[in-house]
Amino acid sequence: MPDSAVTAAADRPYAGVELGGTKCVCTLAFGPNAILDQRTVPTTRPEETLPAILAILREWDGQSGFAALGIASFGPVQLHPASPDYGHILATPKPGWSGADIVGMLAGRFAVPAAFDTDVNGAALAEMRWGCGQGMRDFAYVTVGTGIGVGLVVHGAPTRGIGHSEIGHIRLPRLAGDDFSSICPYHTDCVEGLASGPALGARLRGRALADVGPDDPVWIPVVDALAVMAHALVCGTGPMRIAMGGGVLAGQPHLLPRINAALIDSLNGYMNLPQPGPFVVQPKLGGQAGPLGSIALAAEAATGA
Ligand code: ADP
Ligand code: ZN
Repeated sequence: MPDSAVTAAADRPYAGVELGGTKCVCTLAFGPNAILDQRTVPTTRPEETLPAILAILREWDGQSGFAALGIASFGPVQLHPASPDYGHILATPKPGWSGADIVGMLAGRFAVPAAFDTDVNGAALAEMRWGCGQGMRDFAYVTVGTGIGVGLVVHGAPTRGIGHSEIGHIRLPRLAGDDFSSICPYHTDCVEGLASGPALGARLRGRALADVGPDDPVWIPVVDALAVMAHALVCGTGPMRIAMGGGVLAGQPHLLPRINAALIDSLNGYMNLPQPGPFVVQPKLGGQAGPLGSIALAAEAATGA
């Protein structure tokens, strides 16, 4: 939906909160071209971070007000409205955050429609509304950073089922000779365990990223793992496009073309990708994909679409 249509649908802006592992970004906006205010709160303990966010929302509420509130959170989170722990963070290694009641603490305080989803589902919806997924109803947003998160939208809605997408934890066949020890505490050979930022860091065995060129062999298993995951996405729900970002991809521009080539090799002619390519692209909203994810969630809550 273009900005003008969003603006017409609401005379008040939307408020959004993106809860991240190191920082939370609060945004007051109509869309990417009309960000009225944006403030960052460090992610420390929930008793400290959530009241600081609430204070910002209360300030906005007392000024312009907002039409709806969107909350996009790091996961795992409980998304089933009927569940007693709806809106809570589930088991996380982040100290103090397991069981934190995000929706109760933030959304319950304002008499406006609210929506809650994962950070990557929000980013996927933002890219579909304003970025590289416009006009698509089936789309995936991948971030390769501290973890590997995937926002998977099927027919206009993020997947639910028994939980949100965790396709970063699919297991994959190891490349011959790759005996790297996975950094995922749950899986010895999942994509996140073998190809996330921390996995890359461990694979470098003390070498600095600045000393590692595109021809270095360290990229071979990383490209392979991300192409295997893209293959699973294509065969699983058939997104029309995959946006792939995060610190690792942003810092290594040579990876995307290699992932595209490896994906085409991997599909081996069985499925045809939409033309013209490339199929796996960088997120158009860049660093604002996450914060605008919370605004996209708010817009959905306000308009029901
Ligand atoms: P988060 O996932 O916490 O939101 P980012 O998406 O920024 O964070 O990703 C952080 C990860 O990106 C770190 O693990 C870091 O090692 C990795 N990273 C940062 N810069 C580069 C780079 N130039 N090349 C490859 N990886 C990088
Ligand atoms: Zn895993």
